[in-house]
Amino acid sequence: MSNRTALVEGLMSRFPHIPPEAVLKEDLLRTGIAFDDSALTDNLEGEVKPKSYFIFSFDQKPLAQLGNAARRRPPEELALTGGPYALRRTIVSVRVNPDSPYRVYRAAGSETLTLTMDGAPIADAALPGMPEYYRHTLSNGKTVMEIAPTIQWGYLIYLTVFRMCQYFGAKEECQYCDINHNWRQHKQEGRPYTGIKPIEEVLEALAIIDKYDTGHSSHAYTLTGGSVTSKVDGREEADFYGLYAQAIEERFPGRWIGKVVAQALPRADVQRFKDYGIKIYHPNYEVWDKRLFEIICPGKERYVGREEWHRRIFDAAEVFGARYVIPNFVAGVEMARPFGFATVNEAIASTREGLDHFMSRGVTPRFTTWCPEPATPLGRDNPEGAPLEYHIRLLETYREALEKHGLQPPPGYGPPGAGNAVFSVSSFMDTLAPNDENADELMTSAVPAAV
Ligand code: SF4
Repeated sequence: MSNRTALVEGLMSRFPHIPPEAVLKEDLLRTGIAFDDSALTDNLEGEVKPKSYFIFSFDQKPLAQLGNAARRRPPEELALTGGPYALRRTIVSVRVNPDSPYRVYRAAGSETLTLTMDGAPIADAALPGMPEYYRHTLSNGKTVMEIAPTIQWGYLIYLTVFRMCQYFGAKEECQYCDINHNWRQHKQEGRPYTGIKPIEEVLEALAIIDKYDTGHSSHAYTLTGGSVTSKVDGREEADFYGLYAQAIEERFPGRWIGKVVAQALPRADVQRFKDYGIKIYHPNYEVWDKRLFEIICPGKERYVGREEWHRRIFDAAEVFGARYVIPNFVAGVEMARPFGFATVNEAIASTREGLDHFMSRGVTPRFTTWCPEPATPLGRDNPEGAPLEYHIRLLETYREALEKHGLQPPPGYGPPGAGNAVFSVSSFMDTLAPNDENADELMTSAVPAAV
């Protein structure tokens, strides 16, 4: 048995209480996937929804080294089923890595795609169909995919309205983040990539989605972008993002669950988001450990500071309700060389401390799986990412912490449970028990078809 197969199957048998789907998904997110030409899309001309590059690159190689996968984009996501692990439907975000032991290809004459690990087939891979709203353009010719892409199998509209971050350079940028690099590489390749999305364009793109998403598979939108430390378009951060929130909620009141990802802002600013109609606020704390936070998130430390950041999370919980403040952390960076924890035990103990800190007061963090992007300091030094065991033990720890503190899965992520989850950039939702009561308040079961 080759190395990757032994690693994955070894962890599946050591952690039988973690769904095998989640073990595999974490490894796919951590490692990336190679795509045969037969598994690429025809961009917006074809039948498959292409990867939109909705905020970061989420690739393990630069665009310039992706060959055909750069010219004919891979799909946004895969839906994996079947194979030797009898996978229930598992939605995985696509991160491209031509050197990956995972490969997707289409056998000659076959309708379906196959995912292989170390050369052996392990799942059928269905692709998201091209949504009707991607086939229509704005009046200025821009595409809906550029202005308002959807992810999570169509569940979430991802509005990165500011595609850069004013934390700039080695002393400020989060050490795992390639938002600024991603903006540069798309510009260099001559791709359309709007740095600041005009509100009118966002509203027009949303109107197209609203019109053509007749099955109501889009349930939420996330307003996000880089941090604003001075001004963008003459506005400070809360004003800048707040204006979009206000405009969207005035035009489409309650049509989607509105979420904002921003810095941990003072209470009055957070209150304004709430007053505009935003339902969920994500002041992401990224990494729990104090020493690592200062090293890995130097801009956040400099402009706000860790203790103040955490204090503002609890302030925000009083504004939104604790359940609706959902700070993210980037799972895996606490093990990144040269500064991270040397052992999985230490890293898990630290992450657990952070979960207890927030969950004991009703705030439910969530996490995305670190993608070691090569243009970032941590990705460059850790091309393999964090050990898979860390990710699997984190799933176990997260589920235990949620149960211990009597909390439900966070809202705005679709349904929990293996076979049900649509959250594509971490398998925490795949790992939680299915629970109808807790299915997202505004959720219906409609999802767009796979092809
Ligand atoms: S705050 Fe950090 S993670 Fe967010 S966009 Fe800026 S550099 Fe990236």
